[in-house]
Amino acid sequence: MEDNMIKTGGEFLVKETEANNVFIPEEFDEEQQMILQTCYDFLEAEVIPNLDKIDNKEDNIMRTLLSKAGELGLLGVAVPEEYEGFNQSFLTTMYANEAIGSSFSFAVAYMAHTGIGTLPMLYYGSEDLKSRYIPQMASGEKAAAYCLTEPNAGSDANSGASKATLSEDGKHYILNGQKMWITNGGFADVMTVFAKIDNDRVLSAFIVESDWEGVTVNPEEHKMGIKGSSTTQLFFSDVKVPVENLLGKRGEGFRIALNILHIGRIKLAANSLGSAKRTINYAVNYANERKQFGKQISSFGAIQHKLGEQVIRTFAAESAIYRASKNIDNSIAEYETEGLAHGAAHIAGSAQYAVECALLKVYGSEMLDFVVDEAVQIYGGMGFSADMPVDRAYRDSRINRIFEGTNEINRLIVIDTAIKDAQKGKYDLFGPAEAVMSEIEKLQVTLDGTEDYYTEKKTYIKNFKKAVLMTIHSMTNTLKRKLAFEQETMMNVSDMMIQLYVAESTLLRVEKLESMKGADAIALQKEILDVVIYDAAAKINKSGKDAIYAFAEDNIDKLVSALNHFTDVKGVNSKDARRKVAAHLIEENKYKF
Ligand SMILES: Cc1cc2nc3c(=O)[nH]c(=O)nc-3n(C[C@H](O)[C@H](O)[C@H](O)COP(=O)(O)OP(=O)(O)OC[C@H]3O[C@@H](n4cnc5c(N)ncnc54)[C@H](O)[C@@H]3O)c2cc1C
Repeated sequence: MEDNMIKTGGEFLVKETEANNVFIPEEFDEEQQMILQTCYDFLEAEVIPNLDKIDNKEDNIMRTLLSKAGELGLLGVAVPEEYEGFNQSFLTTMYANEAIGSSFSFAVAYMAHTGIGTLPMLYYGSEDLKSRYIPQMASGEKAAAYCLTEPNAGSDANSGASKATLSEDGKHYILNGQKMWITNGGFADVMTVFAKIDNDRVLSAFIVESDWEGVTVNPEEHKMGIKGSSTTQLFFSDVKVPVENLLGKRGEGFRIALNILHIGRIKLAANSLGSAKRTINYAVNYANERKQFGKQISSFGAIQHKLGEQVIRTFAAESAIYRASKNIDNSIAEYETEGLAHGAAHIAGSAQYAVECALLKVYGSEMLDFVVDEAVQIYGGMGFSADMPVDRAYRDSRINRIFEGTNEINRLIVIDTAIKDAQKGKYDLFGPAEAVMSEIEKLQVTLDGTEDYYTEKKTYIKNFKKAVLMTIHSMTNTLKRKLAFEQETMMNVSDMMIQLYVAESTLLRVEKLESMKGADAIALQKEILDVVIYDAAAKINKSGKDAIYAFAEDNIDKLVSALNHFTDVKGVNSKDARRKVAAHLIEENKYKF
């Protein structure tokens, strides 16, 4: 690997990445595209025609669909061949998740089963546990769930009250407790249940079967959206769990829970991507059909603005999601080369990019909320009709900002992990930040207007990094230990990091695309990039100012003036850019970028 390549999460703050060192979705090969197509074919044949039935939970249809997906191999994409899966890479699994993500409640059941349901056992289970359960989970014979949340333990997941005590003969743990909001809870056969052994401070994890004595499943919750997904409370009363069903070591449960969530977060972003593309298709189809004032509403600038912006945010999210996914894939491969087993390498590889996983969860879920909201608006009154598809898209999107760690918790993770990883010496954050602090004493003009397109954009990205580094440096130096109590400011800096990462990823994708296809073929992508960078500059500036005015003491003017300097970008005609993007969408009548 070249030295300037990103090797760990958060390092994008201090390193420049070459376009030819990122993966872009246009590079998915034929086999990967076939897997994607198989997912879509399954959805179009089995899921999309049955969305009402699914939401009404008729005939246990969700369970049947999971079995059918299992028969096709769709539940075993990430599972090694020895457990009867297809052993696809992390990147390919993400691609499959994008497709499945567009299937509303089915996506939630699928994710809970293949992700948080299957992965704890696959990555931490003993050989005995894996060979007993994983093949049946990959085939869909057994459905899986992940039971972490309790009535009094949500974001503070380690505070759960569920307890396990070793039986006198040492053969079983006796499990007691209550879990809530459990996806697939109504039909899951196998569950990873988190509980504390005796008076331990941290959780352990256990594999529990739902038909064991003492397991009670409450009726389904009534929810705002994802109505077809099963969500229940579960009660465990003196459940006898064989000691060999302890997952990993005693006290390792909290670490298992957190590590599985890194993967869940980036996968949720891929889900949001698939969902956004499907919703954009609904929106443009309607805009092309609906006439007002004698014209299709897609001919109005106000509607084109919405369509254009929906595409721009989706394209930007996609660029960042697959860039990070490939980084994780590379990291997994390196750990495997070093001798780590499949599970351990996947855990280490994804934990390495915890910052990106958290920031993509936030960006992806908020991007989708924007897309579905504007889709309802494009439908006008019909958008408020429960008979229209955007009604489901709108309601189903909302949960994404809540589960897999709320977006508040994830924003805090972004900045907190970036700082802590640097303090642990994983990468040098504070050296480059110091250098920026010296630079702001004598700011230099960085562009003279004669630069080529990519040099100009790259300079903007470099400056955005300086804006973030300067803010982190001054914030940590001023607040010191008080930082943890200034969540609003930490979230401002997270927002700066999110905008930076997504803008840089979009730039790298467009630059690489140009080298692959030539400038003429990617004119629209350049329009997208123009808007992404122009808007990122304004957002980074606003979040940076909010932070600086909140924490800075005597050097406010200097910091704000440097921030303005680092976020100064040449104006673009974003109205025209969005119109051009929208025009292509309108002509194709579907998302094709
Ligand atoms: C439909 C659905 C499906 C789910 N599926 C599963 C599942 O399969 N398995 C499972 O284990 N769980 C599941 N969950 C639970 C989900 O992960 C939790 O709801 C989520 O983690 C938030 O916990 P909470 O609901 O207790 O909210 P709380 O933790 O009470 O949070 C309430 C608010 O306070 C904020 N907050 C909390 N702590 C902090 C803090 N330290 N700093 C700043 N803000 C804070 C939150 O961001 C939020 O805005 C599901 C939930 C839903 C609704």
